[in-house]
Amino acid sequence: MTEETIPRCPYCDSPMELRTARRGFNKGGQFWGCSRFPECRGTQDLSEDPTSSTSERNPESSPADGEATAQHYSILDVDPTASPEEIKHSYRTLVKVWHPDRHRHDPVVLAKAQEKLKTINLAYEKIKEGW
Ligand SMILES: [Zn+2]
Repeated sequence: MTEETIPRCPYCDSPMELRTARRGFNKGGQFWGCSRFPECRGTQDLSEDPTSSTSERNPESSPADGEATAQHYSILDVDPTASPEEIKHSYRTLVKVWHPDRHRHDPVVLAKAQEKLKTINLAYEKIKEGW
């Protein structure tokens, strides 16, 4: 009878189990997790209608040109859900860490620092474009 309310995994079609999130932004909240976890990591929000959801979560797919990607956020050491303030803060910290002035004594490190800073600046620009 309750069978019908149990959604099936969007990835492997196994029945899902009700779980409680132990970490992350949804901590304490409940969600459906694939019964084959950790083999299969299919999840589904409780609120979603199991019949209409195919979980269009695709962090791997590359978005249109010019858009900030998950990679840009990881370069800045922030979550894609981070607020502009958090991102700015992390950006400023990274600039301090990699600032060429700090590495003048070592040309090899200096070159690496400049490269790194370029990547950081680029990522920051990309993310800012989306604000
Ligand atoms: Zn599954």
